[in-house]
Amino acid sequence: MRCARDRARIWPRRLAERPLAPRDVAAAGLCIGCGACAKGDEALGWDRFGQLKPVGAWAGERRRGFARVCPFSPAARDEDEIATGRFPDAPERDGRIGSFETAYVGHVAEDAFRAMGSSGGMVSWVATELLRQGLVDGVAHVAPADPDRDGRFFDYRLSRSEAEIRRGAKSRYYPVEMSRVIEEMRLTPGRYAVVGAPCFIKAVNLLSAEDAVLGERIAFTLGLFCGHMKSARLVDSFAWQLGAPIGTVRAVEYRRKDPDRPANWYTAQLTLADGSERRQDWWHLADGDWGAGFFQNSACDYCDDVVAETADIAFGDAWVEPYSSDGRGTNVVVVRNPELRRLVSAAIAEGRLALDPVDAAFIANTQAAGLRHRREGLAYRLRIAPPRLPLRKRVAPGGGSLPLRRRLIYRCRRRIAIDSHRVLVLARAAGWPALYLRWAKAALRLYEALAYLRGPLGGAFRRVGAVWRRKGSDDANHALRHS
Ligand SMILES: Cc1cc2nc3c(=O)[nH]c(=O)nc-3n(C[C@H](O)[C@H](O)[C@H](O)COP(=O)(O)OP(=O)(O)OC[C@H]3O[C@@H](n4cnc5c(N)ncnc54)[C@H](O)[C@@H]3O)c2cc1C
Ligand code: SF4
Ligand code: SF4
Repeated sequence: MRCARDRARIWPRRLAERPLAPRDVAAAGLCIGCGACAKGDEALGWDRFGQLKPVGAWAGERRRGFARVCPFSPAARDEDEIATGRFPDAPERDGRIGSFETAYVGHVAEDAFRAMGSSGGMVSWVATELLRQGLVDGVAHVAPADPDRDGRFFDYRLSRSEAEIRRGAKSRYYPVEMSRVIEEMRLTPGRYAVVGAPCFIKAVNLLSAEDAVLGERIAFTLGLFCGHMKSARLVDSFAWQLGAPIGTVRAVEYRRKDPDRPANWYTAQLTLADGSERRQDWWHLADGDWGAGFFQNSACDYCDDVVAETADIAFGDAWVEPYSSDGRGTNVVVVRNPELRRLVSAAIAEGRLALDPVDAAFIANTQAAGLRHRREGLAYRLRIAPPRLPLRKRVAPGGGSLPLRRRLIYRCRRRIAIDSHRVLVLARAAGWPALYLRWAKAALRLYEALAYLRGPLGGAFRRVGAVWRRKGSDDANHALRHS
């Protein structure tokens, strides 16, 4: 019988020989819905799991060029190749963080950027500063949208004023796509900056290399560190749990800021049609543990870039103490472009930014869980669930010798990501939210027992682990005695 590892070797070679269409990538569960493949009035649409995917006849066309711009295509350059081409003289290079000039921890000191941002306000500040200094004419980023217009709570837009950029502040864990803003940049002369998750920034770099007009106009890329992307079904779940019919929800906030509480205590907030607000801490939601993977896009299971390695500058949250307890929010920042290093250094000297230099190890430590999931976790997923299309990853299949508990954690996250979508869709069709909510609570209990050894189930795992470890050391002693 052929094992999973053999399949991983054979599938790619056979499939790599045929040209790809966007629909092939989507059918293989590898489409993040970035929109880089759509041109003109071609559009992405919702699938039943609340993910944006290429739809329509064009999505089935095997076009020249597509394979070079899709971030999940095996024919596209990988993050290392792109970064080497873009930042050839970067003085620092780290396997986890990529190439960079300098790195910092801190926040914006001027105006209300920090209070308005999800973290320390650095993304909105850099975007605004680029505009103020005349380095760009517009910034493509994600802002709230009118859900009545095309059923989206958020969308990419091109902001051309400081006020517009500020109104777009905050993180949106919601499917968005860039096709419309890419088209706008293609049609309208000017210089632009693009804000995006690592895979979106990779797509922008690949597109810029293919399309001379975009290559000339997209002057800067601002990357967001990324754990994974959620589907729109997470909003359905929020609405059920906050007692708000989904049709009445007008606005969604994933991380309501409260300076008096730790930054990592997320609060979800819904604004309803009558102007009232409903909120709940993530920890009290049936699916409120970010790391468990509820409603994760399947492509994220095959991603190996946590820190936007191809972006000119990248931003994350400082998820280490004392910063994670500071509810005002603190960024980590990785500067890869020398021009942006000068811009940031000048603002530090003027007291407009409160940033302290840090090294790669500090940055990696703030993203320890994300990096583990996308290094050893990715190796294990490539081994147990080889993708149905060839993939070009900087991590090789492996993980067979990981401790049992870690393997179970990766399997559990994967199942939760897949099943949360299926069960919610079933519950919606049956008009029975409790079906999903009961399943989610049980799944979360199992995940937390495994991940944090919590509850009676966690105690059982602890005992099994102790026996396993004892058996391992007995076996090792036995082997030593006989060697
Ligand atoms: C899906 C997702 C996953 C993330 N995972 C992690 C993680 O694992 N670890 C970590 O440290 N940080 C993660 N971040 C980044 C983090 O949430 C903050 O966005 C980042 O720290 C910047 O905060 P800020 O206060 O500087 O930004 P702000 O000043 O609040 O500005 C945020 C900017 O990002 C834009 N934006 C918001 N959502 C999106 C989006 N989905 N796509 C493109 N642009 C967007 C906004 O329009 C705005 O311009 C993630 C962000 C997203 C969107
Ligand atoms: S990942 Fe992006 S470029 Fe690739 S098929 Fe999906 S939408 Fe198109
Ligand atoms: S985890 Fe990777 S694939 Fe998923 S949204 Fe983030 S950068 Fe994109």
